[in-house]
Amino acid sequence: MPPTPQQVLETTFGYHAFRGEQQAVVERVMAGGDAIVLMPTGGGKSLCYQIPAMLRPGVGIVVSPLIALMQDQVDALRQAGVRAACLNSTLDAETARQVTRQAEAGELDLLYMAPERLLQAHTLDWLEHRVPLALFAIDEAHCVSQWGHDFRPEYLQLAVLGERFGGVPRIALTATAAPVTQAEIAQRLLMEDAQKFLASFDRPNIRYRVGQHGDARKALLGFIRSDHDKQSGIVYCMTRKKVEQTAAFLSGQGVNALAYHAGMAGEDREANARLFQRSDDTVMCATVAFGMGIDKPDVRFVAHMNLPRSVEAYYQETGRAGRDGLPAQAWMHFGLSDVIQLRQWVEQTDASEAHKRAERSRLDALLAYCEAVTCRRQLLLDYFGEALEEPCGNCDTCLNPPDTWDATEAAQKALSAVYRTGQRFGVTYLVDVLHGKDSERAEGLGHTSLNVWGAGSDVGQAAWRSVFRQLLAKGLLVADEHGGLRMTPACKPVLTGAQRLELHKDVVAKSGGTKVKKAKKALPGNVDEGLFEALKSLRRDLAEDQGVPAYVIFHDATLAEMAAHKPTDLQAFAEISGVGASKLDKYGEDFVREIANHEEEFAGS
Ligand code: ADP
Ligand code: ZN
Repeated sequence: MPPTPQQVLETTFGYHAFRGEQQAVVERVMAGGDAIVLMPTGGGKSLCYQIPAMLRPGVGIVVSPLIALMQDQVDALRQAGVRAACLNSTLDAETARQVTRQAEAGELDLLYMAPERLLQAHTLDWLEHRVPLALFAIDEAHCVSQWGHDFRPEYLQLAVLGERFGGVPRIALTATAAPVTQAEIAQRLLMEDAQKFLASFDRPNIRYRVGQHGDARKALLGFIRSDHDKQSGIVYCMTRKKVEQTAAFLSGQGVNALAYHAGMAGEDREANARLFQRSDDTVMCATVAFGMGIDKPDVRFVAHMNLPRSVEAYYQETGRAGRDGLPAQAWMHFGLSDVIQLRQWVEQTDASEAHKRAERSRLDALLAYCEAVTCRRQLLLDYFGEALEEPCGNCDTCLNPPDTWDATEAAQKALSAVYRTGQRFGVTYLVDVLHGKDSERAEGLGHTSLNVWGAGSDVGQAAWRSVFRQLLAKGLLVADEHGGLRMTPACKPVLTGAQRLELHKDVVAKSGGTKVKKAKKALPGNVDEGLFEALKSLRRDLAEDQGVPAYVIFHDATLAEMAAHKPTDLQAFAEISGVGASKLDKYGEDFVREIANHEEEFAGS
């Protein structure tokens, strides 16, 4: 009798139970049906197609947009004893021929391919006539969405799989939460009859933090040093220049930092991506070009040095942290100029008024999140149509509710400064007006005789900038292409005093001991940290010997469980989650020995 999905889960992957919707998806695909799977990053999408591909006769074809990571995915599967391969331009001719032969003979469970390769006429012919097919898995399926930032035109042509390969089940997967994406995938991939599996998009192990105050780089450094010393992280910056500056700054401070952006030579970029992927203590400074398909489970933090482009993008980018389920953090620092810039972009596009309106409300949602004084997780999930009943207790506003103040009067003064000077000046000048800072320019323009001249000298510059930023964020002000501020109709109730305005005091988004309670340690309490480090070092040696990423041997979560339960014989070792038959055989003895040695040493001391 062939093994059941549950048996494969246990013996091959070493896991005890399916998670969430996994089992339902596996059953659907096993039975030959199509499926659309929306699960957050780290939710466990891969097993949904890997197990059916292993159990159904024939080869499972996995379409994935990033060939740079295919080899790692294949390595990880081979470690678990799965017959996997990829076909892409990086293979030499002999290897490619061998993979081709294996596929034709049905000797592979999984074959990874980029869409460009798959869609070549001869590849499609080959698959149709020569290869026994178990299924098609379309990973990162949101790439069909023309509105999304990961749009790949080739993805639209994947509809051909439905037309030409009737009877071969298809499973489309994405971590994009927006409900429209689901409909787009169904429509564009001709998968209207597919069953949809929608998981909760909450990522409870990610702690969200946002700050607006002070020097961003310093705050970042403090955050890394206090919470993530010698751990993997990603730092997103808006521009290439800022990527390089940030990487240089961190390196200068002794952080193991690399850069990644589209302006670098392709080889350098890929080399850095691989270094990051393989190490467990590297910080990658990058533009959002470094993104989709990062398949690294132990990214302990994702930092944003600027505002992201949208809530969707933020969710996606921060979602790259903590795929392994261990505690991780999403950290952001932004400032007034970010808000002005995003407001300008929306106003300046040539798009139709309807499109602009949609963009404006997306930006409003993002800014509301960033300036929030209530639970960030509730706001985030609410944006994706999911209700979280109670505040989460694992974001900055829950852990350390921000101070707010009645800013009605200050806002009236700020708005009055905008209005009286003709709605065309930028924040720096407006603050000068409020401070009554004499200049020839102000004299010449006649502003020194305005009522509002010097009316705000009791409030400091940083506080005024915070007021202007929050007024922009709330949509009471908009910015023109030169940064000049203009009022919107939303000002009226504040100006007339009909509406009180609560603003929050800016905070530094670092954590550490000062304001916010220190983040939960990255490891559960019963883990022997000394042993954990020893196991990590053993893992590093084994990974280097084979030229594979460390996590491919065992994930951090698996090492943590070893360091808590300390199995000293193979039978107990096999019980650890993440230890399947193949890894038990390959690594069991080494790890059990390390654990036993460590215990002896400890007992002796
Ligand atoms: P996704 O592709 O959805 O981001 P992955 O498939 O990479 O997620 O899985 C995320 C992590 O969870 C991986 O480390 C994987 O091995 C682990 N995992 C997946 N399913 C299970 C399960 N049923 N039990 C334990 N761990 C699991
Ligand atoms: Zn919260």
